[in-house]
Amino acid sequence: MRSLVLFDIDGTLVRGGPAKYAFVDAMTETYGTPGNHESVSFAGKTDPQIARELLAGAGLSNDEIDRGFEQLWRRYLTYLEERLPEDPVQVLPGVPQLLAELARFRDIGVGLLTGNIHGGARLKLASGGLWGHFTFGSYGSDHEERDRLPAIAVGRARELFGEMVTAELAVVVGDTPRDVACGKAGGTRTVAVATGAFGVGDLAASDPDYLLEDLTSTGEVVELLFGWA
Ligand SMILES: [Mg+2]
Repeated sequence: MRSLVLFDIDGTLVRGGPAKYAFVDAMTETYGTPGNHESVSFAGKTDPQIARELLAGAGLSNDEIDRGFEQLWRRYLTYLEERLPEDPVQVLPGVPQLLAELARFRDIGVGLLTGNIHGGARLKLASGGLWGHFTFGSYGSDHEERDRLPAIAVGRARELFGEMVTAELAVVVGDTPRDVACGKAGGTRTVAVATGAFGVGDLAASDPDYLLEDLTSTGEVVELLFGWA
């Protein structure tokens, strides 16, 4: 039996970087408007969900939105890749140590569960030197609804490891109430970490199994993640 840990990216592993304005510029070029991006929170949403929300708010139909998606994501990834060298993501405290520690356990699969499209996840994590730690994942490009992503990640882990892997043996680690909600929807355990846009109080209201200020206490985090097994 193999346990899985499924990490969110923004606010959980890294922060900063040029993604928001790469996205806004790609939206403007593709659709003629970025939508009302200053007043809509991106936290915990999938990339396609954010785009659809902003564009629907600007009066575009679902058909018009869908027609531009391929071009939107191509432009977004181009801008992201161009701009990351000058404005790399910052890796959050304790993350490299935690990932190094998790890699020592042969019965733990370390994956991603993120609203980023796959190419965006890869570029952001590569810019922080973290991409090589993850052997599987589910992404905003797999499904627009975050709540559907745990099942996709677990399915990929099952294919990869060729053994019995279930959601009950997985834990989602994220920085927003949406991360906690998706873990619950997918039947995983949940860890909320207050290194993103939400404080401990806001996260407590979403009722995660565990709540952490940050990921700096490596031993304690590993014990928390897998001590139940
Ligand atoms: Mg996040």
